[in-house]
Amino acid sequence: MSKAVKHLVIVGGGTAGWMAAASMQRFTSLGAFEITLIESPDIPTVGVGEATIPNIVNFNRNLGIDEIDFIRQTQATFKLGIQFEDWANQGSHFFHPFSDYGIAIDGIGFHHYVNRLNHAGHKLRLADYSVVCALAERNKFAQPLNPPPNPLADYAYAYHLDAGLYAEYLKKLSVSRGVNHISDNLAHVDIDENNGYIKAIQLASGQQIQGDFFIDCTGFKGLLIEQAMHTGYEDWSQHLLTDTALAVQTKSSGEPLPYTRCMAKKAGWQWRIPLQHRTGNGYVFASDFESHADAETSLLSNIDNTTITDLKTIHFTPGRRKKIWNKNCFALGLASGFLEPLESTSISLIQTAIAKLQTFFPHAGFSQASEDEVNRLHNQELERIRDFLILHYKLNNRDDSEFWKTCRDMTIPDSLAHKIAMFQDTGHIVEYDHESFEPASWLTMFNGFGIQPKQLDIRAEQIKEEKLVPYLAQMREAIRQAADNADTHQGFINKHCGV
Ligand SMILES: Cc1cc2nc3c(=O)[nH]c(=O)nc-3n(C[C@H](O)[C@H](O)[C@H](O)COP(=O)(O)OP(=O)(O)OC[C@H]3O[C@@H](n4cnc5c(N)ncnc54)[C@H](O)[C@@H]3O)c2cc1C
Repeated sequence: MSKAVKHLVIVGGGTAGWMAAASMQRFTSLGAFEITLIESPDIPTVGVGEATIPNIVNFNRNLGIDEIDFIRQTQATFKLGIQFEDWANQGSHFFHPFSDYGIAIDGIGFHHYVNRLNHAGHKLRLADYSVVCALAERNKFAQPLNPPPNPLADYAYAYHLDAGLYAEYLKKLSVSRGVNHISDNLAHVDIDENNGYIKAIQLASGQQIQGDFFIDCTGFKGLLIEQAMHTGYEDWSQHLLTDTALAVQTKSSGEPLPYTRCMAKKAGWQWRIPLQHRTGNGYVFASDFESHADAETSLLSNIDNTTITDLKTIHFTPGRRKKIWNKNCFALGLASGFLEPLESTSISLIQTAIAKLQTFFPHAGFSQASEDEVNRLHNQELERIRDFLILHYKLNNRDDSEFWKTCRDMTIPDSLAHKIAMFQDTGHIVEYDHESFEPASWLTMFNGFGIQPKQLDIRAEQIKEEKLVPYLAQMREAIRQAADNADTHQGFINKHCGV
């Protein structure tokens, strides 16, 4: 197809649909095309997806969204990372911060010095060298300054948000900026027999919508990308065993924590996400290892206040659509595949997929090379995230259920096996292209699961122990003081984001 895109049609009005509408609208001025979003008046959105990672801050900023207004309107709280409870062993916990640890010394990663001192009998905790961990431990929050006054204060944050309110927020913004909005059900997709491209979609009301490019945001069903285009799905359940989620909202209890709690359970893990007006709870589990009834009991016996919604069950198949871009159809959000929400990556993947679409947008006609490149980049990004998620299961030392034993014994992708072996042997972290998680995140996992490298980095021996010990103590003290002086999370919200 050599013609340029003049009409972009988005089907689906969940988080993916409205994120696409808002950011593609901002992009229209460059390409001079029109956008229409169609959403069903009766089919609900998935209704979960409330924990984010830091790139959402820039996504909103690029849309020109005022942060305080966004926090008020979506009842958001700040998220400094994730607390993993009972993962390595029952009773253990560690924190995954959106920050590095310490400061590299002479270009050598900070953790090599910690390894060295611990090997010599010291008992240093990596978490004591992250201001984010120190804030989280104290239930405090401070926004990082830009530029940071020193490298120790270089960290990031994300949000916990009400997904329904966020979609509403982006809807208002998009419609006010010129996106056409139709409330109707998709009834049929017309495919051009000559080239397999989508020609138009038929709505239940009888209206026909013609378009040049279609973004499928219809959720797990993938009405365009799969049901009409038969793109195919790659199932990753041999590595990621969970396939069901139970979700329920409760009244808030006490001040919101500035992090997501992620609690390992018999056949999966439970999330607790504190918003300003309520708490989101859910249990992601493997149905081969626990019955629905037992999973329900497990979740409902571990919530800390009264439920305010019915319990919702969501079934999923971990994996990815074989291509997110197929001819003139692009899949976003759940329509493009799903990796369980252990590290809150789905909304971020919507963002990065939109960014790729914008980079390679067919404003002057379709290019097979562009389509192939976007699919290649997206697939690599997903594989890196997949590996990071598998790591959480593979390294466990729990022996309380068949699920955890199976996870520990399962075969893993070679790319991950190499990463684990490298850290176990040397303490070095392998970095592949298109990683969503930085070395500090991988380090958090290795360290949190108690992996001690067999070999020390000899370069970290250059500084004498008598010099290193007080230097690290000074660093710890600076972080402790900064965290002690910060506002509580609730105090920060009241002061800066109160209505
Ligand atoms: C259990 C669970 C927990 C999650 N937690 C997180 C998290 O913490 N962080 C994170 O980043 N992500 C999370 N996610 C993922 C996140 O929820 C999704 O990526 C995000 O909500 C985007 O969903 P969506 O818009 O693709 O689909 P949906 O929300 O399902 O929206 C689909 C849209 O398509 C419309 N539609 C469907 N059929 C038709 C039709 N025939 N005609 C017209 N319109 C139609 C619907 O009305 C709806 O508007 C989680 C997902 C699950 C399952």
